[in-house]
Amino acid sequence: MILNQVYSCEEILQDMKELSETYTDFMTLRTMGVSHDERPIPMIRIGLGIDSLVLTAGIHGRESVNPVLMVKLAEEYAKAYAKDDNLNGYRVRELLNRCSVCILPLVNPDGYEAATQGFDALRNPILRQYCKMRGIEWEHWKYNARGVDINRNFPCKSYIQQQLGEYPASENETQALMKVFEEYDTVGYIDFHSRGRIIYYYRQAMPFAYNQKNHKLARYMQKLSDYNLGKREEEYMSRLNGGSPVNYYSELLKKPAITVETIEENARYPLDPSYQEKTYREIQALPLEIINKT
Ligand SMILES: [Zn+2]
Repeated sequence: MILNQVYSCEEILQDMKELSETYTDFMTLRTMGVSHDERPIPMIRIGLGIDSLVLTAGIHGRESVNPVLMVKLAEEYAKAYAKDDNLNGYRVRELLNRCSVCILPLVNPDGYEAATQGFDALRNPILRQYCKMRGIEWEHWKYNARGVDINRNFPCKSYIQQQLGEYPASENETQALMKVFEEYDTVGYIDFHSRGRIIYYYRQAMPFAYNQKNHKLARYMQKLSDYNLGKREEEYMSRLNGGSPVNYYSELLKKPAITVETIEENARYPLDPSYQEKTYREIQALPLEIINKT
C-alpha cells in the first residue's frame, strides 16, 4: 500500500484480501458485518496468539486517513512477522504469537465513501436522499448512511439517544464491532480517530484502579507518538460523549480501552492524504507497545 493517496472502500478491501492471501499461515480475513448501504465491514487478524488486541478506525466517515494507516500497519506487521524482522525494535513475530491483533480499518464504510466521494456514492436511494437532506456537507459527514453517529450508539452507561428510531446498538456497524468483542478473547482495545494528536484514556464509569492502568498504558503510547494526553475532565465534561465503543468495551470487559486522535487539530476536512505518511510513523509502534506491556 502506497501512502499519501486516497483509497476507496473497494480498494481497501481488495488490499486486505490480497494481504490475507499472501500470509495465510498467520493471517485471516473475516467480514464482521454488513453496513446499511450493504458494504462489508472487514477485519484482519494477524498472529497466532489466542488473545487479541483490537484496533479500529473509520468509525467517523470523514476521518479518512486512519483506515489507510490500519491497512498499512497490517501489511508492515505481516512482512516483519514473515521474515521474523524487528519493527522499531519490537520483535513482531514473538509479540503477535503471544497476542494477535484484530484490525478493523473501516467500521463505517458508508460514512467513509460519503465523506471521500460525496453522497452519490451511496447506492440506496432512500439513504442517499436522507443524507443529502441533513444539511451537512459531504466532506464533513461522520455518520453512517442512516445519519447515526456510531461513536454514540453503543449500549453503555453514558448512552444518550441522538435521534428518533435510534437506540443502543441499533446500527449494523455497532453490532459488527460488538461481535468482535464477544467472539474473541481480547486484552485491550485502541480506537483511532482524528483530530487533535491526543490520547484519551479516562473512563468515567470505571473505578480508580482501572483508570490508573489505562493511564499507564496511555503514557507509554504518548512517549512513542509524541501526542498529548487527554485531561480526564475533557472526557466526561460533555454528556454528549456518551455511547462510545471505548466506554462500552471498558464496562463490558474491564480491560484497557484507549482513544487515539491522530492529525493536528486545525486540519481541514476532507483530510489531506499527505497526512498519511507522517501519521503512520507516529502510530505504527503503538499496538506493539501495548502488547509488549500487557
Ligand atoms: Zn472520530
